[in-house]
Amino acid sequence: MNPGPIPIARPLIGPEEKAAVLEVLESGVLAQGPRVAAFEAAFAAYCGVKHAIATSSGTTALHLALLAHGIGPGDEVITTPFTFIASANAILYTGARPVFVDIDPLTFNIDPDLVERAVTPRTRAILPVHLFGLPADLDRICAVAAARGLALIEDACQAHGAEYRSQKVGSFGTGCFSFYPTKNMTAAEGGMITTNDDEVAERCRLLRQHGMRRRYHHEALGFNFRMTELQAAIGLVQLGKLDGFNAARQANAAFLSKHLRTVQVPTVPAGYTHVFHQYTVRVPDGNRDRLLAGLREAGIGAEVYYPGLVYQQEPYRSMGYADHLPAAEQAVGEVLSLPVHPGLTADDLDRIVEGVNRLC
Ligand SMILES: *Cc1c(COP(=O)(O)O)cnc(C)c1O
Repeated sequence: MNPGPIPIARPLIGPEEKAAVLEVLESGVLAQGPRVAAFEAAFAAYCGVKHAIATSSGTTALHLALLAHGIGPGDEVITTPFTFIASANAILYTGARPVFVDIDPLTFNIDPDLVERAVTPRTRAILPVHLFGLPADLDRICAVAAARGLALIEDACQAHGAEYRSQKVGSFGTGCFSFYPTKNMTAAEGGMITTNDDEVAERCRLLRQHGMRRRYHHEALGFNFRMTELQAAIGLVQLGKLDGFNAARQANAAFLSKHLRTVQVPTVPAGYTHVFHQYTVRVPDGNRDRLLAGLREAGIGAEVYYPGLVYQQEPYRSMGYADHLPAAEQAVGEVLSLPVHPGLTADDLDRIVEGVNRLC
């Protein structure tokens, strides 16, 4: 029998999610009902924070979190160029300016020494990304933020459940999560903001819904960034499965790291819990694209996250960005992500190992 292709990601939707969605449809309450509130409460408890605010996506969570911290025109926000473009776009949406600093080549996350050096009198926030499910160096980033009076906005869109020194990401500053289908848990689309700051939470709730506390009285220019009851119903079920999904990702990653011989496997520094949103290896010496093509031919859904840096994308170039950050630029030429999702079988894992070891 010819085995089918192994996808890079696959949402795991079971009978519980289907039943939860049907229940919402039958209830007739499709928006602004009890399930969004229940999902927020459960997510806040899971992350160990006082507040969680559900949104329509991870992108709108980031946008709202920045606005709630008062970030706007004239401000600078320090972030990484090696991320999905939404991390930086959210900064632009507020009128502030993303300032890119280079990454640590071992973890792919923002380099805290460079963060410190990039602080100017205009800097208002640091926006680290917990890329691929590995927390950024939070001790040192929190120390810079505290010493300089800066907000900390964590892009945890790839890191649901990841921990730094036994503390969940999203609880160090204001956390932003995504529930897009490829993430560690899904709600089809959706996002969540987590925070211990009462004022930030209040501001997020206000701006999420047209700046409206009392019906048709608008205190501020807000948005419609709401999550639906259908999304929340799926998200609640998925949150209950998240630890199991992450454990399966970690076991798959451990298997790959044990058996892959020819590529540089992911680093997990002491004190960090990696939840392997992606299992990303480095393929040096210009062999990455050849390996990628060979794996695709063999039905193994490898992908390059990301083939370019944010400042190399057209919207940023046309704004005059001309950064040159060597560690990040080297990474985009060498990284390759292999399937690690919880839907993989033992056969799938064997095929991935065999394919990489044979082709590289
Ligand atoms: C997925 C993702 C986002 C955006 O989330 P959406 O729900 O797709 O809007 C932002 N940042 C990172 C790092 C992501 O991976």
